[in-house]
Amino acid sequence: MIMSDTIAAIATGSQISAIGIVRLSGERAIELADALFRPFSGRAMAESAPRTLVYGKLLDRAGRTLDICLCTISRAPRSYTGEDTAEFQCHGSPVVLRAVLDELFALGARQALPGEFTKRAFLNGMMALSSAEAVADIIDAETAESAINAAGQLAGALDGRAERIYSSLADISAHYHAVLDYPDEDIEDFRLAAYRRTVSAARDELAALLATYERGKLMTSGIPAAIVGRPNAGKSSLLNALLGYERAIVTRVPGTTRDTVEEKLMLGRVCLRLIDTAGIRETDDEVERLGVERSRSAMERAELIIAVVDGSECITPDDAEIIAAAERAKHAVIVLSKKDLSGGAALESPLRVVNVSSVTGEGIDELERVIGQMFPSPELPAGEILTNARHAEAVSRALEHLDAALGAMDGGATPDIVLTETEGAMNAIGELSGRTVREDVTERIFSRFCVGK
Ligand code: GDP
Repeated sequence: MIMSDTIAAIATGSQISAIGIVRLSGERAIELADALFRPFSGRAMAESAPRTLVYGKLLDRAGRTLDICLCTISRAPRSYTGEDTAEFQCHGSPVVLRAVLDELFALGARQALPGEFTKRAFLNGMMALSSAEAVADIIDAETAESAINAAGQLAGALDGRAERIYSSLADISAHYHAVLDYPDEDIEDFRLAAYRRTVSAARDELAALLATYERGKLMTSGIPAAIVGRPNAGKSSLLNALLGYERAIVTRVPGTTRDTVEEKLMLGRVCLRLIDTAGIRETDDEVERLGVERSRSAMERAELIIAVVDGSECITPDDAEIIAAAERAKHAVIVLSKKDLSGGAALESPLRVVNVSSVTGEGIDELERVIGQMFPSPELPAGEILTNARHAEAVSRALEHLDAALGAMDGGATPDIVLTETEGAMNAIGELSGRTVREDVTERIFSRFCVGK
């Protein structure tokens, strides 16, 4: 294994925290650790057992103690990056961590680029590209479900599956080329028909994998949800009640269309991306312009519709129209608002109806439960849900190639045509593990990582 120059970075956040980590990787990692760190045991890190925590003092060049901390080393190739690595677990003071980093730079280490540790791990064959991407996905995960799926991918769930498909197709290709290249050898004849089942099984597996992407997208970016209803139904009050709900975690994100604002909301287990909340907030002033028309456009983009009907009044034709639209949606729930007020007519609908008071908060728990039931936790093993657009695109391309290969087989095409398609599929699948991915793509992937990862 070729070791490269020694990189260093603060691996923990920039806030004050209990513990902060500075890490090193490269040919001088252990030497640099020893230059700064004095184990209380008196035994240098170079003499210490790898992957154990050693207690000691971190000194600056003038011999002053910067921190009392822990140090651990790993030796190539049994480390995260596949190179020699060292890690200081200091007190989580940004000032101390910065000082440690500066000492390391003075000794010749260089600032690690975003994702450079993980990139080295990938380049040194320690992990597949899809697993490396899963590292970033774990860090970015907003729900426990997406974190668990990413952890499954880090453990190789996706890569393992892709490799099995790749290798079944590689067998076909190898046999074909062996017959072609060594006509005098005693190799079994290449008969396409013998491989139809392999290609078809690979095709079906890719199709099943691609089918998980819809769920994967919802899992990582949130379920696009629209709160709709006629003016004064109680939409903005419901939105505020949801946003103020003690169990909700809210982030504001720019909307997908111009001039819209979206709010991401964790409701229990489920992450909702509320579409066009600006529209809802404005309704007080612009009752005429907004209302049903605007609701209609939000409904078209939503995966989940929360239809708000004023529970203190009789159902109007506008309500009926919105309810009818909600009944046609993929997922919908009706909120009968203003539960704390009396009056209103009973509502007949095949949809779940939840009585809510945005004033008292009554019914919000129930709404959380109903929405949670609509989006149950996936039953697939962790890691087998596609969440990454790059992966989905590669799988989709592989699928097209295999469909073409099967079509060619069934149309009686010559083996070379079928093989071209099969190898096209192999190339596309290989992009998951990274074995066939272009270097500029790899660069782009790692540049999205945080520094120190
Ligand atoms: P929107 O036009 O659909 O966004 O409706 P709003 O949320 O602005 O509510 C219209 C009116 O109903 C306002 O005066 C609210 O204060 C009132 N309202 C909304 N929800 C409730 C509720 O749960 N209970 C009571 N008593 N009033 C509510």
